[in-house]
Amino acid sequence: MIIVVKNNCEEKQYQNLVEWINDLGLTVHESRGEHSTVLGLVGDTSRVDIDLISSLDIVEQVQRVQEPYKNANRKFHPLDTVIEVGGHKIGGDNFTVIAGPCSVESESQIIEVAKAVKEAGATLLRGGAFKPRTSPYAFQGLKDTGIELLLKAKKETGLPIVTELLSVSHLDLFKDVDIIQIGARNMQNFELLKEVGKTCKPILLKRGLANTLNELLMSAEYIMAEGDCQVILCERGIRTFETMTRNTLDISAVPVLKEKSHLPIIIDPSHSTGVARLVEPMSLASVGAGADGLIIEVHNDPQRALCDGAQSLNPVQFKGLMDKVKTMLPIVNKKYN
Ligand code: PEP
Ligand code: MN
Repeated sequence: MIIVVKNNCEEKQYQNLVEWINDLGLTVHESRGEHSTVLGLVGDTSRVDIDLISSLDIVEQVQRVQEPYKNANRKFHPLDTVIEVGGHKIGGDNFTVIAGPCSVESESQIIEVAKAVKEAGATLLRGGAFKPRTSPYAFQGLKDTGIELLLKAKKETGLPIVTELLSVSHLDLFKDVDIIQIGARNMQNFELLKEVGKTCKPILLKRGLANTLNELLMSAEYIMAEGDCQVILCERGIRTFETMTRNTLDISAVPVLKEKSHLPIIIDPSHSTGVARLVEPMSLASVGAGADGLIIEVHNDPQRALCDGAQSLNPVQFKGLMDKVKTMLPIVNKKYN
């Protein structure tokens, strides 16, 4: 971190600032110029309140040169993190496809979809049991029964399961869930992040509706600071002024996050577009951008889906997409896993 101090300040104020920084356990390198003095802070600056320093009268400018996240930072972990789930590898040179309905609706529905996505080549099954809906009157999910049905589908197909946790009070129900999803609406539910960080399970962390990539990485840091290093980042589209798609897929999130972090990054083309026919082109774009995988909504009967039917592929469309994705993988040096 660099602090530029005005040269017309009182020496006492300047010394107070230096002492304060030293008290934070940091070393100060001073460079006195004609108009200002530049202080270089050496040490762990992640706990320094940049806004507080900026607000001081004697301070002209403050700039971070090191990101405030350590565990998620590629600078400290140059190699890609590879997460193993049920014998499948996520991250590195592996490509993973998670597929399944938005919500678990019934035993026959989840088993049918699970078999279909497995047949098409998906390696993990998704399905919401607890649903975060905008309207309190919309289908809220089958809750604990939904988790039981997912576990049945897992038993039947061997596919590991991914499902969303909405509240710490439900955590006990998730002990046999393979990957816990933290949805967009909870990306900054810090108490929830801390609790899932204690489980040491793989966590699929979705980017918030209006959150920056830096904020996404800070949320990953919350989980990792509790000791859980198995975080998978997920770009699922962000709110913009565009209305023709449900959200705007920030495809550049992939190469940017790859530079900044060693964590796997997957794309959700379903929630980012909201339109089934846009899922395939966005999936292929995600492969091209270097994503480590996709999470795709697939329903056996999209027209009758209780949630997100408009963006759900049917099994035939999904199989067609899988074949194209697999054809592209050698170009980006990835193998299907
Ligand atoms: C979901 O995956 O079903 C979901 C609700 O996603 P998001 O949190 O990205 O809206
Ligand atoms: Mn959905």
